[in-house]
Amino acid sequence: MELQDTFGRKFKYLRLSITELCNFRCNYCLPNGNDCDTPTTGLSLHQISTLVSAFARMGTTKIRITGGEPALRKDLCDIIALCKQTEGIEKVALTTNAFRLNKDAQKYKDAGLDALNVSADSLDPRMFAAITGKQKLEDILEGVDAAIQAGIQTVKFNTVMLKQFNYKELNSFFEYLKQHPVTWRFIELMQTGDNKSFFAHNHVAGESIKELLLENGWERIIRGKDAGPAQEFTHSDYLGNIGLIMPYSKDFCDTCNRLRVSSQGKLHLCLFADEGQDILPLLESGDIDATVEAISRHVQTKKGTHFLQDGYTGATKQLAMLGG
Ligand code: SAM
Ligand code: SF4
Repeated sequence: MELQDTFGRKFKYLRLSITELCNFRCNYCLPNGNDCDTPTTGLSLHQISTLVSAFARMGTTKIRITGGEPALRKDLCDIIALCKQTEGIEKVALTTNAFRLNKDAQKYKDAGLDALNVSADSLDPRMFAAITGKQKLEDILEGVDAAIQAGIQTVKFNTVMLKQFNYKELNSFFEYLKQHPVTWRFIELMQTGDNKSFFAHNHVAGESIKELLLENGWERIIRGKDAGPAQEFTHSDYLGNIGLIMPYSKDFCDTCNRLRVSSQGKLHLCLFADEGQDILPLLESGDIDATVEAISRHVQTKKGTHFLQDGYTGATKQLAMLGG
């Protein structure tokens, strides 16, 4: 059985948020940290096991663990191992602010982690602290070296482009890519329920970065049909590649290949959907068949696009709620 919606899009990729809590205060996401009513617990290992088995049965092959900050969970390595050991799951990925990576990279690899996306919004320690509220850049870059050393297959950076902050440092990212064989992905800032004014002052159109790349000799890499909405670019003078995630560009949603489950057990068909479908009782019951039935039924209601360009942000107050 395959998970497919009414627009013919197939979903082999699950983004699983394991906590809403975060220890950083990124100015575009949680500028004041978590609210005091943020749930402090996420899905249990038993609930995650039901969920991942159900998705695997419907053809899901890749799971990305995200949050909040997933490394705040003490059982992160157990969750990685559980996903990796589920029949049908080929790739387990993690998105993290990397605050523990220099200590835990080898443990993640030993648990079965295949791919890592590290959020780093600047290569300048002062700018990094201004954006994230943390003096952690050095630790994070050390962590990335540790991850490469540990043999984690794919390591990518994520940077949200912000007009009044890191946009003027674009060249420093390019310089880094001359020497390092990693992919640096620039994410276009998305408007959420909580960041309207920040968005108005800081949004940079991803298309303008794309024009700059093409003018400077970067070439688009043609990726597979199921590769998802990111566009990737290569240049013969650089060891690393560049990725662009441009949610405001035309047709972005046509290549959507992912579904999301929140740390509270809600299935979200889109990052900006009105609400999630509560499947927690099914996950708790351990009934994989019933979970499969509920997910495949709900996917039939997935809409064609997110309507973000109309300023519509659905129920998403900030992306720490769902994992981006
Ligand atoms: N805490 C982890 C981290 O920062 O990597 C995982 C969760 S975070 C919500 C996942 C990704 O979403 C990060 O790369 C972050 O930069 C990105 N993100 C958060 N808020 C965003 C926004 N409003 N627009 C675009 N990307 C955003
Ligand atoms: Fe935390 Fe990630 Fe949001 Fe930054 S982007 S506040 S690290 S959840």
